[in-house]
Amino acid sequence: MTIPEENFIPYAKQWIDEDDIKEVEKVLRSDWITQGPAIDEFEKKVAEYCDAKYAVAVSSGTAALHIAYKVAGIGKGDEVITSPMTFAGTANAVVYCGGTPVFADIDPDTLNIDPKEIEKKITEKTKAIAIVDFAGTPCDIDAIKEIADKHNLIIIEDACHALGAEYKGKKVGKLSDMTVFSFHPAKVITTGEGGMILTDNKEFADKMKVLRHHGVVKNPEKGGWYYDIEELGYNFRITSFQCALGISQFKKLDKFIERRREIVEMYNKAFSDIDEIIIPTESDYAKSAWHIYPIQFKLGKLNRKEIFDKFHEQGIGVQLHYTPVHLFSFYKKEFGYKVGDYPMAEKYSERAITLPLFPKMTNKEVERVIKVTKDIIYDK
Ligand SMILES: *Cc1c(COP(=O)(O)O)cnc(C)c1O
Repeated sequence: MTIPEENFIPYAKQWIDEDDIKEVEKVLRSDWITQGPAIDEFEKKVAEYCDAKYAVAVSSGTAALHIAYKVAGIGKGDEVITSPMTFAGTANAVVYCGGTPVFADIDPDTLNIDPKEIEKKITEKTKAIAIVDFAGTPCDIDAIKEIADKHNLIIIEDACHALGAEYKGKKVGKLSDMTVFSFHPAKVITTGEGGMILTDNKEFADKMKVLRHHGVVKNPEKGGWYYDIEELGYNFRITSFQCALGISQFKKLDKFIERRREIVEMYNKAFSDIDEIIIPTESDYAKSAWHIYPIQFKLGKLNRKEIFDKFHEQGIGVQLHYTPVHLFSFYKKEFGYKVGDYPMAEKYSERAITLPLFPKMTNKEVERVIKVTKDIIYDK
């Protein structure tokens, strides 16, 4: 049986309405399609919501990580401890700065970096810890902060999954020295491409604003034409029309998360009694933004490729989040990582499949995913 294409359910999908389009159109008809007032407004809105002092919007989540590492002082020979269970961008951006990503294994229950493992990886070269709020569920930041303070390390929180999530009643965004969001279409809200860093540190924020625009530093006293490049920067600018989309999307953030939570509840209810499946959990201290819903199959007679293919044959666009970063060819070749280095992340990854989850999903679609999942398990 072939499934008609319009019935395909992807693992993630943006939700753009007419009002979003109108806001973008307004900017496109204005004089400022880039570097206009929409950028400041978007930054302000996100910072306020998260109770952070400063925000810097950039062209992608990866660009945000890159300049966050830069202002954290990451350079040649410096080590940044991070989770192997993340999108490669978290570690790639360390390498862009000349640093070395050192992974610390995950806690198999939370799927987030295990604080005990972080401590084992600290050396004289360690400068920062880059934690990742996997699936949208915040890390145990208090435990991690204790370690960071003891060793004088900066915490960069990759919260690309976790805009709108909470830790002990506080919004993700002011818990770490710097917090990074992505606005890729698969994420909780989108600007097409885009990213942002939140921080309470003015020096960091000012420096990141310079770095996102080639390193340009102006000095009107020397003339309107004058600028200097003191430190090499980048073109990581986001456009005004992207920020207009961001502002419009941002109004719907809470509604989007509420719908994500409803869908997660439907999945949890359907799967919690099934022995063959491990469902993702939300720690007591956390309220997840539920960017993704990764389940683990206790593999029996089926292997993961078979399961994956069966979903796709049924028009369900499941995904894998993620291949552990240390197992990518580049990381093996460049840093000598190998299979077996991070057993918890590897075991999880071998059994994981991300089911579709996005706010526009209908209950009918959720039910279809549940049915196909059960059919696969019970081999129907
Ligand atoms: C999406 C994502 C990124 C990168 O964001 P881009 O905007 O695609 O560059 C980084 N880290 C994590 C955990 C992500 O999910």
